[in-house]
Amino acid sequence: MSQQKKKIFPRNYKERLFILTSQTLIYYEQEKGNKRRKKGSILTDRIYWVEKVEPEKNAPVERKFPFQIAYDESILYMFAKDDTDRMDWLEAMMQVIQGNDKLSAKYHKGFWVDGVFLCCGQAVRNAPGCCDWHKESLKLRASSRNITLPPLRERTHLPPIPEDEGNACVEVVALYDYTAKKPGELSVVKGIRYVSLEKMSGDWWKIRDMTGSEGLVPSNYIEEVNTDDSLSCSVEDDIENYPWYVGNMSRVKTEQLLREKGKEGSFVVRDSSQKGVYTVSLFSRALDEVNGTVRHYLINVNADGLYYLAENHLFESIPQMIEYHQHNGAGLLTRLRLPARETSPTPQTAQGMWELSRKDVRVVKELGSGQFGVVQLGVWKGEHQVAIKMVKEGCMSSDEFIEEAQIMMKLRHPKLVRLYGVCTECFPIYIVTEFMSNGCLLEYLRQHGKELQPQRLLSMCLDVCEAMAYLEDQQFIHRDLAARNCLVDEDLSVKVSDFGMARYVLDDQYTSSVGTKFPVKWSAPEVLNYTRFSSKSDVWAFGVLMWEVYSLGKQPYEHYDNTRVTERVMQGHRLYRPQLATDQIYQVMKSCWHEFPEERPKFHQLFNDISALIDNKQ
Ligand code: ADP
Repeated sequence: MSQQKKKIFPRNYKERLFILTSQTLIYYEQEKGNKRRKKGSILTDRIYWVEKVEPEKNAPVERKFPFQIAYDESILYMFAKDDTDRMDWLEAMMQVIQGNDKLSAKYHKGFWVDGVFLCCGQAVRNAPGCCDWHKESLKLRASSRNITLPPLRERTHLPPIPEDEGNACVEVVALYDYTAKKPGELSVVKGIRYVSLEKMSGDWWKIRDMTGSEGLVPSNYIEEVNTDDSLSCSVEDDIENYPWYVGNMSRVKTEQLLREKGKEGSFVVRDSSQKGVYTVSLFSRALDEVNGTVRHYLINVNADGLYYLAENHLFESIPQMIEYHQHNGAGLLTRLRLPARETSPTPQTAQGMWELSRKDVRVVKELGSGQFGVVQLGVWKGEHQVAIKMVKEGCMSSDEFIEEAQIMMKLRHPKLVRLYGVCTECFPIYIVTEFMSNGCLLEYLRQHGKELQPQRLLSMCLDVCEAMAYLEDQQFIHRDLAARNCLVDEDLSVKVSDFGMARYVLDDQYTSSVGTKFPVKWSAPEVLNYTRFSSKSDVWAFGVLMWEVYSLGKQPYEHYDNTRVTERVMQGHRLYRPQLATDQIYQVMKSCWHEFPEERPKFHQLFNDISALIDNKQ
């Protein structure tokens, strides 16, 4: 169990086979059959402490004997069979590392859980130890024995889940994070498993977590787990269930499949050697190309067991890595986009349900103009007011947009500007959306900001945050969140618009992070450095949007150009507190601008924080 994990929970560990030599501790994953796959290794001269860890409260027997290995910037937690087994490992490790000049004087006796050390509450992953490390006794014991390493046990499954008072217990997994809102409720974390105890009235389930705490969660936040699953494998690791996984398909067949599927799908993941070595095969065809190109990329695993295709983009699992590259090319031929499936369900054409008939759309008057062209007020089928983005030829990669419009149409939330459909058979393409009578938020703030009550400013931020929490749940990245891309409705509620649209702009000045139109002032450091977009880079932009709201539409860092802003942000400078923002509101903004994406709050957390401020009339 590596401390690199975003959330460390006692269940969040996997069975690994460890082999210790004088130079390395290597760990392997036991796969189906008898295959072993090297997951990573730690150089023993990088280790700076090895020690027991305090077990969690009421730990089941298989987790009663944890110990830890601190190395580089991380800690690896391991569970031994019993205390003797644990002492054997500690002494063996000590014998190997006792000459290290980096050995620490202090260590953490508590686990790192949910972003803090349980022993001292420090919230930085490489925070110095808080308890004295009495390594002398370990050293002595290590040198007084001629250590033979403990026998390595090879179990393919962890022990069965303990039965609950004689009844077989049903396991559930959380589909989303849920934060308890009232006493009696239980917070759950996406991907973590729980024991379900009872279905209550009103769609609530009573469940128990690993520490034994019990409480209620809404039933749509959890799902029953297939109990045949081995506990040693987390839900997200089972790549066989993903549509992009094609098993042990040959290279030739893969290339055939990719070329056949062409635009319908562009990549697959295959087990290229039958030894658990996976390859991503990617197809791309430019408009003026006949045959297109297929590239094969090996999926690499680094010493910490993290996966990557391109340097600097590391992930805890293959599905997470694929998800990222579906949105970000980041060194690949193109981004991965859609999987090519052997038996693709009903092929989608541009004439699907999202295609509206142009004759049903009547243009009324111009509302404004933007990146893609003019935006008009229109009427659809003679009765519904709509906004129509008229996209000029050459401004948008329209094929890609059409392909994904159907996905974007499925994103529906009261705080998202609804996409009704598109008219794509000729230029200008129409993108037909919900009409918002008070127009763009940025303009609204500039013109009417002074008339707005402080509570209204906060509720505008909350509206945006709510929409973004929904997009975060849907794993959809906005990429250009800013006041200019939000719209104000008749009742002054605010909705988020143009989600995902940045990907289709055909203008280098807008898409390249050094381009003059790139939203540098809304961009997180990892976007500026590595073009690494994520929901957490959206969180950064949300902080800047809050700043825009509270400064009534000012330009962020108004006296600096983009180059200077990049320099200053990298040096740790941040936007100042706008006069209208209280300290508490400024703290919320600032939390969005943490240098490290994983330290920034999620939108759900921000939603709770802002709601609390609204309740307290801040
Ligand atoms: P683009 O996406 O092409 O850059 P924008 O979304 O910025 O275009 O729209 C340009 C302007 O049109 C906005 O500033 C706003 O005033 C107006 N507008 C856009 N969409 C709507 C809408 N759904 N309802 C009302 N006005 C809109």
